[in-house]
Amino acid sequence: MPAKNLSFVLQKPNHVSFEDRPVPELHSPHHVLVNVKYTGICGSDVHYWTHGAIGHFVVKAPMVLGHESSGIIAAVGDKVTTLKVGDRVCLEPGIPCRMCVRCKEGKYNLCPDMAFAATPPFDGTLAKYYSLPEDFCYKLADGTSLEEGAVMEPLSVAVHVVRQAGIKPGDRLVVFGAGPVGLLCCAVAKAYGASKVVSVDINEERLAFAKKYAATHTVVSRKESAEEAAKRINEECGLGLGADAIIDASGAEPCIQTALHAIRIGGTYVQAGMGKPDINFPIMALCTKELNVKGSFRYGAGDYATAVDLLATGRVSVKELITGKVKFRDAEHAFHQVKEAKGIKTLIEGPEDEQVNGS
Ligand SMILES: [Zn+2]
Ligand SMILES: [Zn+2]
Repeated sequence: MPAKNLSFVLQKPNHVSFEDRPVPELHSPHHVLVNVKYTGICGSDVHYWTHGAIGHFVVKAPMVLGHESSGIIAAVGDKVTTLKVGDRVCLEPGIPCRMCVRCKEGKYNLCPDMAFAATPPFDGTLAKYYSLPEDFCYKLADGTSLEEGAVMEPLSVAVHVVRQAGIKPGDRLVVFGAGPVGLLCCAVAKAYGASKVVSVDINEERLAFAKKYAATHTVVSRKESAEEAAKRINEECGLGLGADAIIDASGAEPCIQTALHAIRIGGTYVQAGMGKPDINFPIMALCTKELNVKGSFRYGAGDYATAVDLLATGRVSVKELITGKVKFRDAEHAFHQVKEAKGIKTLIEGPEDEQVNGS
């Protein structure tokens, strides 16, 4: 018997298996069924895989992993008007309640009742089929491949971060961390007209990539005090009295401390990276420079549409970030690659039709 809905399931930390699960039902006439074609893996998937939890989200029952996916519409509910069978789409993998105060004010990414893929208890997208309401599927432009469609999720994260940073033409920005989200933040900020985009990381290979990809300047992190590092970044990159905006996409305590010293008076700081839950934070700099300090969580109203458009119009390119592809049965390999920071994005192909005999 061919598998109906082959799925990649986290059973418990460091233990995954393949299961043939039922094809999801359309929960409303507005839902569609997507045949998943490509899925990228990010730090959060790896964290669940290795630790079984992120903060208060704890995996208590087997859960399908993955949330960065593209695919082809396989079925549509009776009331679907914007999509048809065969359409190529990227998936926005979190459904808010649409009824709470945060949802109603347009910040649905802050909905406390969000059902987000591969965040317990909700299954993720590493399966043959995944179901979503039609308005959480975005049609890909003709020139955008399904592979690029799988990178739309981290691109939407970057669109949201750069929106939080309020980047406008002429701004000088520093981005700590040259992983996928940091790199994409550089690309989006450049598309928005930032005049300087500085990428900072400890990994020189990643910085060489950042320089080719979207950064105007790169700085290698060293062991030095936060004040010294900030002074060096501002001198090496001609940032004068400091950057207009700084994004931390590393989550690393020394980077966060350096950022607060490297930013100009009245500048904006955005925390995008997730690291230790508590750190030493230079709060005096925040106070005396009157900084705008913001968080950034996933993506909200308009972010996916903007990401799709940035790719469609060629203002941002993501092809370069796709450094590997593995078959569905080799999905765990992609997790190892992210864990070991190998390549930039490894995509997992959707399951092919095959026989199942247990796992
Ligand atoms: Zn992700
Ligand atoms: Zn809500």
